[in-house]
Amino acid sequence: MLQLYADWHTHSCYSDGSMTPEQIVAAAARRGLDEVAITDHGPRGMFIGVRAARVYLELKEQAARLAERYSIRVLVGAEANVVSLSGDIDIPDEVAGKLDILIAGLHPQVWCKPVMQTLTWILPGWLGRYSGRVRAMMRGANTKALVAAIYKNRPAFVSHPGLMMDVDLDEIARACSSRGCAMEINAGHHYDRDGVIKAALKWGAPLVVNSDAHYPESVGELAEGLALLAKNRVPPEQVLNAREGLNYLAN
Ligand SMILES: [Zn+2]
Ligand SMILES: [Zn+2]
Repeated sequence: MLQLYADWHTHSCYSDGSMTPEQIVAAAARRGLDEVAITDHGPRGMFIGVRAARVYLELKEQAARLAERYSIRVLVGAEANVVSLSGDIDIPDEVAGKLDILIAGLHPQVWCKPVMQTLTWILPGWLGRYSGRVRAMMRGANTKALVAAIYKNRPAFVSHPGLMMDVDLDEIARACSSRGCAMEINAGHHYDRDGVIKAALKWGAPLVVNSDAHYPESVGELAEGLALLAKNRVPPEQVLNAREGLNYLAN
């Protein structure tokens, strides 16, 4: 049975989580994880982002103290928003370079840069719920933006590809495979996770399983993801946070 040693996607009260960083670390230690990452939403998330990118640097100082107190590795990362069709994210390079882990994700509650793209890209995405033609167009735009973000920013993984913003999973898996970027199986959200796994297997892209916890009881709750990996017969070496995986973050 494949075992996971880390949960690299959690949200603290510095974005929209209910937990202090200490509560995240304590919950991860209780779960018996070796490693946990605090990965708050980027600052351009509407109402849910960190108040400024420098918050991640403050969190790093807290993380070092907590790691010692709880005898667990504590990473600080960001779940960056993709904020333009050309793949820009909302974490400046000087902060991104100091993070332990960078996640890139598409979210429909985001202020784009330039702001006009919120109207021309994000808003039609909402309207796409009512029109198949608009939906297909937005799928192309979302895919283009996420692929560009993978190439431009080299994230460790993309969060929940296909959740709320539809993408072509084959295109995402191809880009991930060529950049060594993982595709996330998010245990906290329902989207076409079987489709993500199938695309990753087809194109040889790494996978990662995380909780996306916003509450203490969800930290390290990865059972749903593990079941999906088992069902699709994913080899452990393709899963970054599996004990038998490549563990490339440690290198
Ligand atoms: Zn997300
Ligand atoms: Zn998240």
